Amino acid sequence: MGSLLPIVERPMAAANAAAASFAALEAKLDYLDAADIDLVRRAYRFADTAHLGQMRHSGEPYITHPIAVAAQVAEWKLDAHALMAALLHDAMEDCGVTKADLVEQFGAPVAELVDGLTKLDKLQFSTREEGQAESFRKMLLAMARDVRVILVKLADRLHNMRTMGDMPRPKWGRISTETLDIYAPIAHRLGLNETYRELQDLAFRHLQPWRYSVLAKAVHKARQRRRDLIQKVQHDVTAALADAGLNAHIVGREKTLYSIYRKMDEKHLSFAQVNDLYGVRVILPNIISCYTALGMLHQLYKPVPGRFKDYIAIPKVNGYQSLHTTLVGPASVNIEFQIR
Ligand code: MN
Repeated sequence: MGSLLPIVERPMAAANAAAASFAALEAKLDYLDAADIDLVRRAYRFADTAHLGQMRHSGEPYITHPIAVAAQVAEWKLDAHALMAALLHDAMEDCGVTKADLVEQFGAPVAELVDGLTKLDKLQFSTREEGQAESFRKMLLAMARDVRVILVKLADRLHNMRTMGDMPRPKWGRISTETLDIYAPIAHRLGLNETYRELQDLAFRHLQPWRYSVLAKAVHKARQRRRDLIQKVQHDVTAALADAGLNAHIVGREKTLYSIYRKMDEKHLSFAQVNDLYGVRVILPNIISCYTALGMLHQLYKPVPGRFKDYIAIPKVNGYQSLHTTLVGPASVNIEFQIR
């Protein structure tokens, strides 16, 4: 192999990487019709050309980022216009593409979405004060008007947080703080629970890497130790609900490191004192069986007083509905149940 070979090969490799990840995006578009997929492909080609020669901090071609953002948007099953905006979201900012260009190429609705995203990008949040964070979130939501703009923005933030390790370290703090104060709460408001949890954990990890890793190790150890216990609880709950003739789907859920950390911090607890690391989610076919299941569970294990909440009768502001209760399981370990 000659020493020139890698240099010659690099642009090819870059093109292949981008094309490969677009193929991965395309595989997620089966909920769209052929005409829509074609529009998305056109937006991809346009963005690919616009970002040509740009690289991310990781050294990957820049286009891999808009593709990843669009892939997240496809997970949420948004429409073709939102996917196109995801692919084009950094094109105005970074590539000298104008709004008029986008109107001409893709029509006004897509251009509006991209323009909205570009404007949001110019806002930077810089204070940790809670009242400020609230008004900033409101401003952001008002500016966006179209909820698709917020969703693409959340997908953008999620990918940036996932790849934060490639960014210069001095930038971690500001971006993570902003994620924690602004974007995670917005994801929560929109009912995107997985995104909310992931954004919080990624922000925590980059804000306090040392605490994060110590806590991650402690939680991992505790969970290993308690594996049999969790299996026993799942088994007992499954049996009790089946006895009552309920067709329940039962899944164990893990609390995020960030929520454990918050609890320790706010209530001044040591890790050993945080004893509800475990959660179980019980999913039932209708509302009445949720209440029946609640009754069965309160017979099986003792409920912790003051921890029952009926979000079915009184939904959360984001529309979330579920019964919450904390029970004292075997070995006096607290287990949080969500019944829905
Ligand atoms: Mn971006």
